[in-house]
Amino acid sequence: MNKLIYLDNAATTKTDPRVVEEMLPYFSEKFGNPSSIYSFAAANKEVETKQRDRIAKSLGAKSNEIYFTAGGSESDNWALKATAEAYKEKGNHIITTKIEHHAILHSADYLEKHGIEVTYLDVDEYGLIDLDELENAIRPTTILISIMFANNEIGTIEPIKEIGEIAKKHNILFHTDAVQAYGHVPIHVDEMNIDMLSASGHKFNGPKGIGFLYIRKGVKIRSFIHGGAQERKRRAGTENVPGIVGMGAAAKLAEDSMAERAKQESDLRDYLINRVLKEIPYSRLNGHPTKRLPNNANFCFRFIEGEGMLIRLDMKGICASSGSACTSGSLDPSHVLLAIGLPHEIAHGSLRLTLGEDTTKEDIDYVVDNLKEIVKGIREMSPLYEDFLKKNK
Ligand SMILES: *Cc1c(COP(=O)(O)O)cnc(C)c1O
Repeated sequence: MNKLIYLDNAATTKTDPRVVEEMLPYFSEKFGNPSSIYSFAAANKEVETKQRDRIAKSLGAKSNEIYFTAGGSESDNWALKATAEAYKEKGNHIITTKIEHHAILHSADYLEKHGIEVTYLDVDEYGLIDLDELENAIRPTTILISIMFANNEIGTIEPIKEIGEIAKKHNILFHTDAVQAYGHVPIHVDEMNIDMLSASGHKFNGPKGIGFLYIRKGVKIRSFIHGGAQERKRRAGTENVPGIVGMGAAAKLAEDSMAERAKQESDLRDYLINRVLKEIPYSRLNGHPTKRLPNNANFCFRFIEGEGMLIRLDMKGICASSGSACTSGSLDPSHVLLAIGLPHEIAHGSLRLTLGEDTTKEDIDYVVDNLKEIVKGIREMSPLYEDFLKKNK
């Protein structure tokens, strides 16, 4: 096989073979519908409860506060749209940020067309929100604060505990899109005053198409998918039993190995960052130097266009990303890089490398060695770079 170095773990992760093994019996052997009465199928109800317990425990939540969904996008849509509906008597104002995933931004956009007012908080040059600005944005009509736990492009981790305190003080619900954070950094819903939390199986070595929404007991959120009585009548549809088993298994593995994995990944991440900044001229790190996900590195290279860099990396067997997977294909620079204040031409030259537990130092060396050559090669063909060199002689 040709060389393949996968550094796009923020887009998706490989399903751990141990997870696949746990899932397999639930396709062709134990395939019963958990809602059926006979014991062959009803056993799957218990299996499901076991996974709910596993996930709840990892968050300091209760089992009946975990609702299975079809992934992060559904959880985000549910949290925003159903809260807006359920709390419309209380108010019609939501606070979020300019750097959310599109599952949040486009849901907010939809709500704005239906009478909801949305405040999009700015972030600083590192991607952090300002807590005073958050508090000042609160109105008597504010029903929800939705701020992501960690950003999927630049890896910045927001001050979640402090945001939770502000939300609690003003008696406003707090939802966090924790799709990039869950399974990677410790999360405790009580200590952080989180009322709702979105996560997705395929971002922590579980399968795709399965996720969950944590909903604190007492939150009045409505059903989003109408039909049968599954998920305590709040999310209809025959459960994705293999997916649920896989996500539960992945959650357990992620929790057990978290500290060790975070250390290993962040050591390699810092090695990568140091080499790039030192060896590639006119490069910069995007995101916060320390308040960032253990596996995320995001750079901008001046006089470079992201797509060209990705194609050349691909020819070397390196999987990476520029902007986010959802936006590549469009020519607009990433909304996150614009929000941290980068001008268009610099935001266009971004590269996101996200490590996994299998990433080695040799992989990083191979990537940096090739990246140096690629950046140099592209710049040599750039008239802008030539002008720049002349002026700076
Ligand atoms: C991947 C991602 C999502 C979407 O999750 P899916 O399971 O792919 O629908 C939402 N938010 C963030 C921050 C993500 O990284």
